[in-house]
Amino acid sequence: MRCDTVVIGAGVTGLVAAWRLVEAGQDVLVLEARDRVGGRLRSEVHDGSFFEIGGQWVSPDQDALKDLLDELGLSTYPRFRAGESIYLTREGEARRFSGEDLPVGATTAAAIERMTTVLDELAAGIDPERPWDHPEAERLDRVTFQQWLEDECDDVEARDNIALFIGPAMLTKPVWSFSALQAVLMASSAGSFRHLVDADFILDCRVEGGLASVPLALADRLGRRIRLRQDVTAIEYDDRGGIVRADGARIASRRVIVAVPPPLVRRIRFTPELPAVHRSARDHQSFGLVIKVQADYPTPFWRERGLSGTGFGPYQLVHEVYDNTPDGASTGQLVGFVSDERADRVGRLTAEERREQILDSLAAYLGGDARRPKTYVESDWQHQELTGGAYGTSFDLGGLTRYGPVLREPVGPIEFGTSDVSGLGFQHVDGAVRVGTDLARRVLTGR
Ligand SMILES: Cc1cc2nc3c(=O)[nH]c(=O)nc-3n(C[C@H](O)[C@H](O)[C@H](O)COP(=O)(O)OP(=O)(O)OC[C@H]3O[C@@H](n4cnc5c(N)ncnc54)[C@H](O)[C@@H]3O)c2cc1C
Repeated sequence: MRCDTVVIGAGVTGLVAAWRLVEAGQDVLVLEARDRVGGRLRSEVHDGSFFEIGGQWVSPDQDALKDLLDELGLSTYPRFRAGESIYLTREGEARRFSGEDLPVGATTAAAIERMTTVLDELAAGIDPERPWDHPEAERLDRVTFQQWLEDECDDVEARDNIALFIGPAMLTKPVWSFSALQAVLMASSAGSFRHLVDADFILDCRVEGGLASVPLALADRLGRRIRLRQDVTAIEYDDRGGIVRADGARIASRRVIVAVPPPLVRRIRFTPELPAVHRSARDHQSFGLVIKVQADYPTPFWRERGLSGTGFGPYQLVHEVYDNTPDGASTGQLVGFVSDERADRVGRLTAEERREQILDSLAAYLGGDARRPKTYVESDWQHQELTGGAYGTSFDLGGLTRYGPVLREPVGPIEFGTSDVSGLGFQHVDGAVRVGTDLARRVLTGR
């Protein structure tokens, strides 16, 4: 079989690239290893309640995604946020507060504000598409974010809170395992560090029917051009094109787009082999780990107590929690996140032990009723070979300056990309839309 372009991976990146190529008149085939489209976006119904297992929130700056939502006729609704939030101290005291300023002592508050300004200035100074070009890039990429924080700030509680919003909450890796430059890129890709801290901004709204409606709507348009259960295992290529092999299929095309997360590129055998630097670059970019936990209750009991359901606790097993009740639902839903080393630890427990510890942590924020959900759902991305973690991938120490540009370089007729290599919208669906659009442009213009 033959076509103009084969796209490997039916996540948002691959589907956007494929749809833009089809609109331009190309004959395109999308090969997806799973039995569904959407990749890291998936919705499920459990006990009659709706759950978004992967990505779900949209923020106001995510123009590429918002334009696509308009184009696909999908609408959004705001996340529930009325009421007071909770901050859990190291001692486990639950402090109520309103607005974005955490209820910490005056010295710690001043230190958080100062660090926020420092990070915002750095983030404003780097181009998220080319962080390695920043004059300080090498220095910042060779120091861990933890070390950088310790050098910049004496206040431990301030450091722990700044660390929370980039480590556990975003890159989902311990702050000693990635560089200060990677941290600044995370902030810059969202517009500023202040945006990451502001839940009302970064978690502003959700899509009616779930964010997974985006890949489903694109798949509707692409129709029979998508083939499921096609795990691509080999690509042979030369300057004239590629031959893609998947589960018995053999497809020849002029161009190939590999829209799978960087670590998964290594599952595919390339002939000739990819240049060594391409293999090394992908060896140094790995998935973080976060367990997304959702609990559904007969009612949103926290609202009756004047609480929004929002909570932060840098010393808690569940480091952040939100009201996640879908629009129009009759029940009350919470979502919480257990990240990096804490996720390692509870990952070794039995399912019952893990559930008990996680619900205890939700109860620390919102009271004993949180221990008694009617439905409890954990997302499972770390166990899936075709993803391998959550939310996305990032470089280890020094990797961004050493290998960053390589991840976006084509090899012969092959282009590569997912949200993991985006600048703006890095690790987010907005980034997947941007990268997918750019990959299609590169194919159409011959780069
Ligand atoms: C728990 C969780 C919460 C998140 N929360 C948010 C959020 O609130 N907002 C937000 O914007 N983003 C969020 N994200 C991130 C967002 O979901 C991703 O950035 C985005 O969906 C990535 O899309 P992608 O197409 O680039 O990659 P993927 O979705 O990973 O798509 C890659 C596709 O390639 C397929 N594939 C892999 N290897 C092969 C092969 N060899 N052959 C064929 N197919 C292959 C995979 O099956 C997959 O379908 C979250 C992610 C997770 C996991």
